[in-house]
Amino acid sequence: MTLERLEFDNAYARLPEYFYTRVQPTPRRGTRVLDTSPDCAELLGLEAAGLDDEPLRALMAGEQLLPGMDPLAQKYTGHQFGVYNPALGDGRGLLLGEVRTPHGPLDLHLKGSGQTPYSRFADGQAVLRSSIREYLVSEHLAALGIPTTRALAVAVNDERVQRETVEPGATLLRVAESHVRFGHFEWLAYKGDEDGLQRLADHVIERHRPWLREHETPYAALFEDVVARTAELIARWQAYGFVHAVMNTDNMSILGLTIDYGPYAFLDTYIPDRVPNHTDTEGRYAFDQQAGVALWNLNRLGNALMPLVEREALVSALESFSGQLQQAFGAVMRQRLGLTTPQDDDAELCREWLTLLYQSGADYHRAFRMLSYYDGSEMQRARLAREVPDPSALAQWLERYDARLATEQRTTEERLEAMQAVNPVYVLRTHIAQRAIEAAERGDRDELGLIRECLCRPFTPRPGCEAYEQAPPADEAAVCLSCSS
Ligand code: AMP
Ligand code: MG
Ligand code: MG
Repeated sequence: MTLERLEFDNAYARLPEYFYTRVQPTPRRGTRVLDTSPDCAELLGLEAAGLDDEPLRALMAGEQLLPGMDPLAQKYTGHQFGVYNPALGDGRGLLLGEVRTPHGPLDLHLKGSGQTPYSRFADGQAVLRSSIREYLVSEHLAALGIPTTRALAVAVNDERVQRETVEPGATLLRVAESHVRFGHFEWLAYKGDEDGLQRLADHVIERHRPWLREHETPYAALFEDVVARTAELIARWQAYGFVHAVMNTDNMSILGLTIDYGPYAFLDTYIPDRVPNHTDTEGRYAFDQQAGVALWNLNRLGNALMPLVEREALVSALESFSGQLQQAFGAVMRQRLGLTTPQDDDAELCREWLTLLYQSGADYHRAFRMLSYYDGSEMQRARLAREVPDPSALAQWLERYDARLATEQRTTEERLEAMQAVNPVYVLRTHIAQRAIEAAERGDRDELGLIRECLCRPFTPRPGCEAYEQAPPADEAAVCLSCSS
């Protein structure tokens, strides 16, 4: 199917008018599409081949909408770094329309599309650097099995955008089941609009969780669903070493998706208190704080839902969060370690592995990948030892690991194959994103496309792409990023 054949059913636009403002995209001079994601195209039922055509360029340039689109900026609020900000909303992005697909509706959202009533004093622009980062990480997290908003395409334009320096402008075509955030509910709750709150909850249930309709207390069930999915999401971030870095409640998805990528990072060496955002001076959103922050954010959401849900139901859902997160984290880590049947000591074995990585200064991702070749042989032991440079501690841990593996039913070959399917070769580390940004700045679509292909098939080594497997050179490790995107 081609882009113009998409069918739209714009349910958000049918909500009360004060939930949003209708805004047309601002045209962006000189727009060129840099890359498109075949995986995301497939979600929409589109043929990737047709995406080079004019309609996509014109759409991303803000010049020409598709039939059935009805662009609007959504209103929401949220807690930013712990402080409530009533003046938020889509300040530089627009919900263009909701596509009907066989698997349910998908929002098409254009980021970098100009100012809206919610822009405050900001320019409504997105820069190339952060658009490339969001584009790649959206498709990469999906390939790693981490719930996320998606990205169909990224385009550069001739705008000169002032940040710390002047940067090229860009637009990103974001795709998601929904863009509703915790902050949408906070907005209605703070202004005491109980009717609006109920309308929004009904919208989310109708559109995305229709099976909850029949529930005795559907709003309580919706909150339980958000708690469960958020726990699952954070478990996956922690297991794969992902730091979101701006976990404000306006950046928390009601569907438990990763949303709104700014100065995010993947760990390189295992440094649990890593803070990639240089303006986060207190480390509020450090890697090892994410579980606690998610729970704090869920408390804000629960608070907003008080007019709809009994207090006891909110409290009991919140109390279930930590247990669900532990459970989900344990399950992913067991997979990554190649263990099938849960056993009592698994959490400890996992903790000791992480301690070993921390103390030896190992690269987090390479260590897991190399463990996925460990068959007990001297040769593989030696290869692993190059990644985990603390021979005696490694030997000690391997002794426990060997004993644990001996209780498993699978053959070594089966285990290694399963481990290689969950422990990535390619990870969108900061220095890899930087290479992609430089390729985009040079207009090198081939390198950008190649990096995207590696990141979208992260478990499969590609000949010629060894450079993207590497940890960063020492002078590029743990750089901090700016929030201004
Ligand atoms: P963030 O923390 O980046 O998700 O953004 C917080 C708020 O600022 C949201 O309401 C955004 O829409 C808005 N915002 C961020 N950058 C811009 C910009 N360049 N122009 C207009 N609004 C922006
Ligand atoms: Mg945001
Ligand atoms: Mg943002």
